[in-house]
Amino acid sequence: MSDYWDKTIALDLGGLPGGYGWVFPKGEHLNVGVGSWKYYGSNLRRKLAELCARYRLPYDSLENLRGHRLPLRVPGSTIAGGPVLLVGDAAGLIDPLSGEGIHSAFRSAALAARSIDSYLRGESDDLSNYQRAVDRRIMPDLIVSHQLQDAFHRMPTPYMPFLRYSNRFWEAFCLLIRGESDYRGLVAKLGPLRPIFDLIASASRVGGRRG
Ligand SMILES: Cc1cc2nc3c(=O)[nH]c(=O)nc-3n(C[C@H](O)[C@H](O)[C@H](O)COP(=O)(O)OP(=O)(O)OC[C@H]3O[C@@H](n4cnc5c(N)ncnc54)[C@H](O)[C@@H]3O)c2cc1C
Repeated sequence: MSDYWDKTIALDLGGLPGGYGWVFPKGEHLNVGVGSWKYYGSNLRRKLAELCARYRLPYDSLENLRGHRLPLRVPGSTIAGGPVLLVGDAAGLIDPLSGEGIHSAFRSAALAARSIDSYLRGESDDLSNYQRAVDRRIMPDLIVSHQLQDAFHRMPTPYMPFLRYSNRFWEAFCLLIRGESDYRGLVAKLGPLRPIFDLIASASRVGGRRG
């Protein structure tokens, strides 16, 4: 593995509808991948080969190649009923823009533990307070992430120069990636322009394209 990847990650944005390509150094190996909307699945091998070529990685040497669906929760859908609740991926708590799910898996598991504890102590009749907690504590950020994804992927071209040339935009993006800020904080910076963002995001959402 070349020294170049010791301290470098690659995020390849703007070339895949609904997703991105990545190269993550993992110590002894590189994790190389592409993600996109389900309908685009048949193109992913070609996109992976292109990504490898772009970063001069030998496509033929890739090992352990596999695909996986990332489940996205429809806001308001049931994730707790009677004595059953769903956490993490099972509840569809993936971050739509980044595809990350570990953070939400931990957070939802912590909320689930609290709800189960109060149920077992007889302080609540069922686990429905878990769903309310997820809706209040996790979903607002995921909903904004979805809006950003809609706005970005409908028309990536106008945003790419911002990412490339605007330090402010780039720093905000890095804070997000490092988990030092959240999506709501990001769009809150839009101030009075927020309704315009909401409008662009909802106009960008094309019905039925999600898998
Ligand atoms: C290739 C790839 C890369 C990813 N990269 C990232 C990343 O960089 N950052 C990030 O945040 N997220 C990433 N994700 C998403 C992340 O892995 C998931 O969101 C996260 O693991 C969800 O955690 P979970 O506990 O809900 O589910 P899982 O991690 O899937 O855990 C569920 C567990 O339940 C077990 N299980 C299933 N059925 C049964 C059964 N009937 N009985 C007993 N056990 C069962 C499974 O074997 C599994 O161990 C990635 C996902 C993929 C596929």
